[in-house]
Amino acid sequence: MLKVNNLCAGYGKVQVLWNISLEVKDGQVVAVLGSNGAGKTTTVRTITGMVKASSGSVIFNGEELADRSSRFILDQGIIQVPEGRQLFTGMTVYENLEMGAYSKEAKAKFAETEEFVYEAFPKLKERRKQITGTLSGGEQQMVAVARALAGLPKLLILDEPSLGLAPNIVDDILEIAVHLAREKNIGILLVEQDITKALAVSDYGYVIENGHVVLEQTAEELEKNEHVKKAYLGI
Ligand code: ATP
Repeated sequence: MLKVNNLCAGYGKVQVLWNISLEVKDGQVVAVLGSNGAGKTTTVRTITGMVKASSGSVIFNGEELADRSSRFILDQGIIQVPEGRQLFTGMTVYENLEMGAYSKEAKAKFAETEEFVYEAFPKLKERRKQITGTLSGGEQQMVAVARALAGLPKLLILDEPSLGLAPNIVDDILEIAVHLAREKNIGILLVEQDITKALAVSDYGYVIENGHVVLEQTAEELEKNEHVKKAYLGI
């Protein structure tokens, strides 16, 4: 589905990513792990076209995306739940979901999507008409995931969904997102600093340090990996 090969990118003259290669297969949950400033968000921004790659390729379902616009990439079905959510906080939950259904197909299927999103997040159904800015942080994160799902993603990118949320809410959100992905065969690229939580729901993971992929293994192997344990889990 997604194949990133030797991706290099940065900001101005500062190179941040050095030959990043990673892969997400259909229905697979892939974690991108690393500490603050490692280059996780930049990787995601380069995949979604917000940061231009200086070299390397991003192939999605056979199509080269590295030199394409964000809009084109979005239209291919790569939808991101951004770090910090970036919701329309003055709008209702329903309106936010509606904004997520930007394509013709997503608009046509919106009623259906709304139903499965509310099934996954029953709280949002109750809060359908509430102004999003007045929801709790956890509920807002649910809206952010639901809005992305309303766009009918083929690849869903979650950037730090755990940020500022209580651990049990993070578990709920990750579990639901992964369940929906499995049910709909959506690939998920999960960027997370909370490595334990990320590995618990992922199939495969990449560890990024200083803009380099230093390790890639199945989630099970990463959980047992000595470097991961020492550097990230404090054990
Ligand atoms: P975090 O978990 O803290 O979000 P990250 O792994 O996602 O970290 P990035 O946000 O990708 O890391 O940042 C990687 C490097 O790029 C950092 O050194 C950061 O200072 C730099 N950087 C990020 N955004 C910009 C920007 N807009 N302009 C210049 N440098 C940036």
